[in-house]
Amino acid sequence: MRRNRRVKVLATLGPASSATEMIERLFLAGVDVFRINMSHSSHDAARALVNSIRWVAKRHRHPIGVLADLQGPKFRVGEFPGGRVFVNDGAVFRFSREEKTGSNECVFLPHPQIFAAVEPGHMLLLDDGKLRMRVIEKTADHIAAEVLVGGALASRKGISLPDTLLPVGPLTPKDRADLAHVLKLGVDWIALSFLQRGADIHGVRGLVGERAAILAKIEKPSAITDLDAIIGAADGIMVARGDLGVEIPVERVPGLQKKITRQARAAGKPVVVATQMLESMISSPVPTRAEVSDVATAVFDGADAVMLSAESAIGQFPLEAIQMMDRIAIEVEGDPSYDAFVHATITTPQPTGADAIAAAAHAIADTVKLSAIVCYTATGSTALRVTRERPGLPIIGLTPVETTARRMSLVWGVQAVMTADPANQTDMVSKACRIAFDEGFVKAGDGILIIAGVPLGTPGATNMIRIAFVDEHGAPVAEIR
Ligand code: PEP
Repeated sequence: MRRNRRVKVLATLGPASSATEMIERLFLAGVDVFRINMSHSSHDAARALVNSIRWVAKRHRHPIGVLADLQGPKFRVGEFPGGRVFVNDGAVFRFSREEKTGSNECVFLPHPQIFAAVEPGHMLLLDDGKLRMRVIEKTADHIAAEVLVGGALASRKGISLPDTLLPVGPLTPKDRADLAHVLKLGVDWIALSFLQRGADIHGVRGLVGERAAILAKIEKPSAITDLDAIIGAADGIMVARGDLGVEIPVERVPGLQKKITRQARAAGKPVVVATQMLESMISSPVPTRAEVSDVATAVFDGADAVMLSAESAIGQFPLEAIQMMDRIAIEVEGDPSYDAFVHATITTPQPTGADAIAAAAHAIADTVKLSAIVCYTATGSTALRVTRERPGLPIIGLTPVETTARRMSLVWGVQAVMTADPANQTDMVSKACRIAFDEGFVKAGDGILIIAGVPLGTPGATNMIRIAFVDEHGAPVAEIR
C-alpha cells in the first residue's frame, strides 16, 4: 500500500477514535502515525490502542508508527471552595505554600520548584493564558502577583511561567511510570512535553536507549532559547503550537513555526506541525478556509508531518478530518509552485559521505529522470539524509528492522518496506528493482537510484550509489542506459 503524498499525517487517538475498526478506517484514510496522549490515557487504554494499531498494520502489511506523548511537568493550582472563584483585574493575588482552601485572593500552589525559581517581574499565566498576572513579591511562604487580566479561575487549572527557567527535569514520576509502560508496549516514538533544555534529552535517552526515538515538543520560550541543542539531541521535533501560543504571544507562533521547521529540516531531523490545524472540524464536516491554508503552509514549508489532536481524538468527524488532510497535502504537493517553496529551505550537505551521496542522488535523479530512490537503511540514517534533500521522487526505505520501518512513517517522503538484507550487490539491485516494481513505484523501462551503506547495517556508512532500470517483470535490465 502506498500513499500519494510525501508529507505524513499524525492523528491523536481518543474516545472518538479508539475502536479498532475506527483505527483501521483512519489508517486507510491516510494516517501514518497514531499518537497516544498519556495526559488522558490509562495504561490499559494505551495497551489496547497499541494492540489495535499493530493488528491493523499486520492486516494491511504496512508499517504504522505509534507516538506516545508524555504529559511532562505541567503545573496546577490547588482547590477553590465550590470549584471556582472570580479574580478581579487589578487585584493582588497570592500563591501560597500552605495547603489551605483557596479564595478570590489566594490559592495553594503545590510546586516548591516554582517558589525556588520565580522572580518579581515574571509573568504567570493561568488556564491556558486566560488569566494573566505579574509577580510583584516573593517571600518564604507566598508569591504575590498583580492581576493584569482577571476572570473565572477553577480548581486545579494549569499555571504556566513563560519567563521562568524551572529547576525541573523533563520527566515527572507519572512520566517515568508511563515511559516504562509504553516502552514495554513497543511504541516507536516518545514525545517529551514542556521540555526546557537540550541537555535534558540525554537523560531521557539513557532510559529509552534504542527502544524508541525521541520527539522534542517545542512549547516553551526556554526551548526556543535552547533550540539548537534540542534539535541536536532529539530524533525529531514537534512545533506544539497549543502550549507555545499560551507561553508566548500567539502572533509570534507563525514565525517560530517557520524557524523551527527550517532548522529541523536543515539538521535532517523530522519536524511535525501540530495543533488546531483543522480545529473547526471537531464539530463541522468542513474546515474553514483559513485552516486549509494553515495545513497548506506547513506542507509548502516542507514539514515532515502534520498532526490532528482534538479533531481525531474527540471530534465528531475524525475520518473527514483525515481525508481533508490527505486531500490538502496531495493538492499542495502537486502545485506548480511546491518545489520552489520546499527548496526555499537550504539544506547544504555536511562534509560526510552520506550527505555527498544524498545530494548527488537528488541531482542524478533529476538529470536522468529516474522514478524512485531506493535506500537500504538499517537504522534509518541513510533515508533521513536522503529525505533531507526533499527530492522530487518517491523514496523507498528498505529495512530488515521493523522498528526502523515504523519510525520512518513519520518522515517526509519515505515509504518503508520491510525486507531481509540482500546477500550481495547483485541481489541488492534485483531486490530494489523488484520491490519498487511490486509496490507500484515504477513500471517497465523506469529507472531507480539505489543507495546503501556497505557493509549493510552500519549507521552513517552510506557509501554506495547505483542506477538500475527495471524490465517488464520487475527485474533489472542488463545494460546501463
Ligand atoms: C500542543 O500544546 O500543541 C501539544 C501538541 O501538546 P498537548 O496536546 O499535549 O497539549
